[in-house]
Amino acid sequence: MSEITLRGISKRYADGTTAVDNVDLDIQDGEFVILVGPSGCGKSTLLRMIVGLEDISEGDLSIGGNRVNTLGPKDRNLAMVFQNYALYPHLSVRENIAFPLRLAKMEPGEIDQRVGEAARVLELGEFLDRKPAALSGGQRQRVAMGRAIVREPAAFLFDEPLSNLDAKLRVQMRTEIARLQKRYGTTTVYVTHDQTEAMTLGDRVAVLRKGIMQQVGSPRELYNNPINLFVAGFIGSPSMNFLPGQIRGGKLTLPMAELDLPEEFRERVGANAGGREEQSVIVGVRPEHFEDASMVSKDVLGSGVTFRSRIDVIEWMGSELYAYIPVQGSARHNQGMAELARELDQEDVRSEGDESQIVARLDPASRVREGEESELWLDARRLHLFEPETGASLTYREGAGDPTTEGAHPGASHGGSNGGGTAGGRGGELGGAGGAGAVRRDA
Ligand code: ADP
Repeated sequence: MSEITLRGISKRYADGTTAVDNVDLDIQDGEFVILVGPSGCGKSTLLRMIVGLEDISEGDLSIGGNRVNTLGPKDRNLAMVFQNYALYPHLSVRENIAFPLRLAKMEPGEIDQRVGEAARVLELGEFLDRKPAALSGGQRQRVAMGRAIVREPAAFLFDEPLSNLDAKLRVQMRTEIARLQKRYGTTTVYVTHDQTEAMTLGDRVAVLRKGIMQQVGSPRELYNNPINLFVAGFIGSPSMNFLPGQIRGGKLTLPMAELDLPEEFRERVGANAGGREEQSVIVGVRPEHFEDASMVSKDVLGSGVTFRSRIDVIEWMGSELYAYIPVQGSARHNQGMAELARELDQEDVRSEGDESQIVARLDPASRVREGEESELWLDARRLHLFEPETGASLTYREGAGDPTTEGAHPGASHGGSNGGGTAGGRGGELGGAGGAGAVRRDA
């Protein structure tokens, strides 16, 4: 068994930087977990602590049930695949793959057998006698993976392995890695800043911000049920739209429309607002929860609100249509939102003064036109509401958001203090490290 368990893991560098702050994470045997977050959030540091290249300042790291904090990298039996695959240029593909086995003084017959098997699975058989220089980028990447595979490690650790590749190759290698991981069933931890990679590769995704674990869950959980503004904005492309909202007597006022808050939201918002009469919120709407009103069937129209708006720009891509809509009043009214936008790298796209722009993904058959007013529709059932000060979601539901697992095990099978992406501190503890401090709702 090679489950990897992190308990209260922190890293403080000599200059005082806290790169990783009290992280809890349970990675099951055979599971594929993605560590994702913007540049500088501490994901490489966390990976390097797991592999043993970086000392752990605080906390306990176990692999297969044994505490390994003080073991050197060699004794942890993990295989790391880096961004620059570091192949030996003077060695053939065969010798590159065999290298770690020779180092371990493995018997030659066994080496041949393992290299042959890896080459077969990786479809490198015909290249075994070539030098790396005579291979394509993708083939080199496969050799690097071969070198990791032959060691039969307890786990594979990937540090942004695809970021040097061009877009097409990246997609190819992504499916390749997913296929190999399933084939071998080896526990895998994969670091990336690319939310698309995170969403497509992993069984579960762990989102880090400034060294602090925000939420751990399946891609669907994170997408449908983000715990705070940061996760909501980070996961999904194009990202979630944020609008300022005002709740008063069961009604939600948005810059472009007023709507009745669906009953289930009303209860939860009420509870969180301590029954206050009026409450400011940040409203999150995914692009696909807008529609051209003329394309919405009559029985569904009532679940949302219709509004008229000019459409600034249309991007039609055959299977998708994105409409850019100006809205008055920006949700960037506070420091936190501005900082969040910077972190999420979306500052310039959406806002200018008090006018901001939202992105709507409409039915590609829609006849809306650039520069003209159109009747649009917003699905009220799919709104997300956030607390403006802390960024905590008011609509987050513990263990929800993944229809493929919902009801079966709200995170239970992944156990641990953050199984399924539960909040470390729900309500009242938004700013603090609530409980195990594994997951935070403030963003
Ligand atoms: P990521 O992989 O998410 O981009 P890193 O783990 O590389 O982030 O870095 C996390 C934080 O720790 C960053 O603020 C970075 O500047 C800092 N950091 C990384 N290495 C060192 C170091 N050797 N000394 C001091 N600070 C460091």
